Amino acid sequence: MLSPDDVFAAAQDEIAYAYERMPFFRRHMEDAGVRPGDIGRPGDLPRIPPTDKTWYRKGFPGGVLTEGVTLSDPRLRHLSSSGTADERLLTVEWNALWVKRCLDACKVHPGIRRGLRAERHCYYIPASCAEASCAGPAAHAPHANPESAQDRGASASAAHAPHANPESAQDRGASASAAHAPHANPESAQDRGASAPADAGRPRPVAGGLMLPAFHDLLATDERMVDESLRALERFRPSLYMVSPAHLAFLARRMSERGFHPPAAPILATYSLCGILARRQILAAFPAETAFSEVVGMSELGFLAAECPRGGLHLNSEAFLCELRTGGRAAEPGELAELVVTTIDGGCSPHVRYRTGDAYRLVAKPCPCGHGSPLVRMEGRIRNLLMRKGRAVLTPRELDETVGDCDWLRLYKMEQTGEEAFSFSYIPAEGRADRAPELAQRLKERLGTDVRLSLRSVEYLPAARSGKFMECESRVAAEGLRL
Ligand SMILES: [Zn+2]
Repeated sequence: MLSPDDVFAAAQDEIAYAYERMPFFRRHMEDAGVRPGDIGRPGDLPRIPPTDKTWYRKGFPGGVLTEGVTLSDPRLRHLSSSGTADERLLTVEWNALWVKRCLDACKVHPGIRRGLRAERHCYYIPASCAEASCAGPAAHAPHANPESAQDRGASASAAHAPHANPESAQDRGASASAAHAPHANPESAQDRGASAPADAGRPRPVAGGLMLPAFHDLLATDERMVDESLRALERFRPSLYMVSPAHLAFLARRMSERGFHPPAAPILATYSLCGILARRQILAAFPAETAFSEVVGMSELGFLAAECPRGGLHLNSEAFLCELRTGGRAAEPGELAELVVTTIDGGCSPHVRYRTGDAYRLVAKPCPCGHGSPLVRMEGRIRNLLMRKGRAVLTPRELDETVGDCDWLRLYKMEQTGEEAFSFSYIPAEGRADRAPELAQRLKERLGTDVRLSLRSVEYLPAARSGKFMECESRVAAEGLRL
């Protein structure tokens, strides 16, 4: 493992390299009146104003690639963040570097890392991620050129999974019917599925593995797709499940209902926070002792943090210089802070002091696993924080802990709809007594007894526009909010 001094020295090199070779970054430094030689110790880093995805979106490609790199270089990996088409961020990086970052993050969990290296990955992820070819770090087959890569992804989706396009008519139909016609079975939506063509949504081979189909609106995924996914899974026998936790929890509930025993393999849960309920539902469907690791990744960077077998989340300090910032300074242990990262591997699109938009807390004590990389708690996206009077009162992770492992809940979604207004919708588990009043009490203890909090039992919950399923969303915490 690199020492903090080694990491800082590598970051100094990266800053000098980006200054020399990346036009947008040179201008960024000049605007701030700072030169690479001014960054002589870690305390000097804040002299470089942070960058963010808006900065990269504006500069792509010419401004944010190092000079001399062409988009058609076959060694490049083309990445697109999940989200709806107008919010997507396009990035390229050397495929080998991007894969190495992912493998480095997983050094804290040897079982997961082995599964990752074996490249028989089963993907079950939001349709927009699948469509965007950001599936995962399969090491081989970087795309020959951006046009064909995007085309291949798009045409594969178009041929086999018309639902995958968030703008598609099927999807709009699905959400419309979701809004107006809740289903008897809370999660099945056969009537909606019936409108899709007969060959829609088949499991399909992708580089490094198998992609299981899901509707853009996860809970609308029909029973036929589930059946086909389970059959494909039995034949495929993955080395690793690379999944969104909400997606695999959905499939795991179906497995448990059918008495289906999935092939054993480690589970890497990423794309969104893994809540307590989802984790329990997943592990209940898989063999005992299944390795499970929550991994935080960003399509433009690779994996930033991974959970070790002892349940500690470790920052990927092998591949990034990581800063936790709050109030314009370095955060103390326990403080809510944004992760800001600097790449240190001389890639073709260096990221210097890049704001991840994710909230963390540094954990002061060492992890019992013995790995030396910094231990953190991932609290969720900053834009999903529940806020009052400009302060975060509950993070998505804290909300999840406050809800806890309620056996009477199948799935839930909290939305902050106004300064003082919170709406908690849940799909109850069958055959369990509803204990919503107790939960309301717990939530109010955290949010404040004066808030307007409504709890309602529903038969259906929609996915976010990006296709991810978010348990906690806020209309109050704005995009770009700083901690
Ligand atoms: Zn650990």
